[in-house]
Amino acid sequence: MTATAHSRRQFASDNCAGICPEAWAALAAANAGHAVSYGEDPWTGQACDLIREVFETDCDVFFVFNGTAANALALAACGRSFHAIFCHRHSHVEDAECGGPEFFSGGSKLVLLPGDDGKLDPATLERAARLRPDFHYPKPGAVTLTQCTEHGTVYSADEIRALSATAHRLEMKVHLDGARFANAVAWLGCPPKEITWRAGVDVLSFGATKNGIAVGEAVVFFDRALAREFDYRTKQAGQLASKMRFLSAPWVGLLADGAWLRHARHANTMAQRLEAGLRGVPDVAQSYPCQANAVFVRMTEPLVQALHARGWMFYQMHGEPDYRLMCAWDTTAADVDAFVKDVRELAAA
Ligand SMILES: *Cc1c(COP(=O)(O)O)cnc(C)c1O
Repeated sequence: MTATAHSRRQFASDNCAGICPEAWAALAAANAGHAVSYGEDPWTGQACDLIREVFETDCDVFFVFNGTAANALALAACGRSFHAIFCHRHSHVEDAECGGPEFFSGGSKLVLLPGDDGKLDPATLERAARLRPDFHYPKPGAVTLTQCTEHGTVYSADEIRALSATAHRLEMKVHLDGARFANAVAWLGCPPKEITWRAGVDVLSFGATKNGIAVGEAVVFFDRALAREFDYRTKQAGQLASKMRFLSAPWVGLLADGAWLRHARHANTMAQRLEAGLRGVPDVAQSYPCQANAVFVRMTEPLVQALHARGWMFYQMHGEPDYRLMCAWDTTAADVDAFVKDVRELAAA
């Protein structure tokens, strides 16, 4: 690949984007001299405090290297090896973590549930959890929801509240995979507490990699009893960073002045612009409501080939015919307009 091909902004994924200026500056600041290792440094303390401010509660916070580890370890903390973890059949924990949650929980079974627009609903969850009350089948232990969903949609506070109420009534814990949590908050415009602990979420995988940092996701325990011995879990899993400040400092950069929401709002706005630009184009049909930073479309194969030939990168997901067009914190209006122009030209051809 040439340097140009590397640097061109694409719609392939928000984790193709680089590091945002706020995170970059915080990394540089943290790089001045020596600091205590394994999380005892001032940046890690400040990042944890900022996360507590964001959620307006006294939660327990841990930093791990990536989202797969955050999900797998958080879910392992939610139950025992003979528990079942309910998830959407197109969730990252099922589709893209190579059995990580099963492995780190020591054998918990992921039970896949259907649901429109990438969302679970309480009735489906309850039916599945009640299906097998006998001990020849795993005991219901947790449900994991993805916010934003894998289809670019967003659960409302009411939807999360209803799912959590069902889960808790059935003695299950509630985990939220928030790899794109910021985009959900930006879409809903509500205080983060309204779609987490106030709605019954026990533990959150809070992502920032897709929102402008290089590496490092936060596991946020609202049910602090679940955080017991989690430090051992992260260490055993190889997820305890010795130079923790370089995971946590970018979080300080992102959270201190609200950059996390600014970037997420921007990415969402670019997705709205993209969706509007593609509306009405022959050969292009929107698959799901655009509520965050992704636009899902069905396109004819010749159109897809022609777009690839012009150098555009984007992917098909979940073995489905839809193509996912993902906007990032650094996607520009000009990027969107150039893509839309090519689509319109090629679709008409
Ligand atoms: C990106 C992503 C993750 C984390 O993936 P990693 O590559 O392990 O960082 C988790 N959940 C969802 C929904 C994601 O999109």
